[in-house]
Amino acid sequence: MLKHFLPDEHVQSIFDITPEMLLKRNVKGIITDLDNTLVEWDRPEATPELINWFRSFKEKGILITIVSNNTQQRVSSFSDPVQIPFIYSARKPMSRAFKRAIRDMNLKRDEIVVIGDQLLTDVLGGNRLKLHTIMVVPVASTDGLWTRVNRKIERMLLSWMKRKGMLNWEE
Ligand SMILES: [Mg+2]
Repeated sequence: MLKHFLPDEHVQSIFDITPEMLLKRNVKGIITDLDNTLVEWDRPEATPELINWFRSFKEKGILITIVSNNTQQRVSSFSDPVQIPFIYSARKPMSRAFKRAIRDMNLKRDEIVVIGDQLLTDVLGGNRLKLHTIMVVPVASTDGLWTRVNRKIERMLLSWMKRKGMLNWEE
């Protein structure tokens, strides 16, 4: 059960994830969280660096879908200008939105990675479907209320797993 909360990989930021890395593992699609994964939760638009990051994957034929628990307004106003398909109000860690993203990209589960900053939504949701999960350090140090609550639980889980020797990456 607790292994569901363990990401397969842990990186400092999305910019540590490159198309070359993913292609080597035959990954053809990315399901990524938005808030505090791609940009700060209160930043309305993609940064130039992020736009280049998106482009680098598109150029290699790797698909990206943004799957966010946030509202239609937030997710569409971020995603539309950069022309990335998205699912809002995703209710992660529930499976439905993940399944829809997989279907829309027309890929197999082992051709997809899930990227996100939260164990209780992104990592748990991806792991439940046996997708490869990559956790990133949150972009912002501030959060909305529910995210703060989630992070508290997350920290407890992480320290427990650390004591059990289940973690091999540094925080
Ligand atoms: Mg997030």
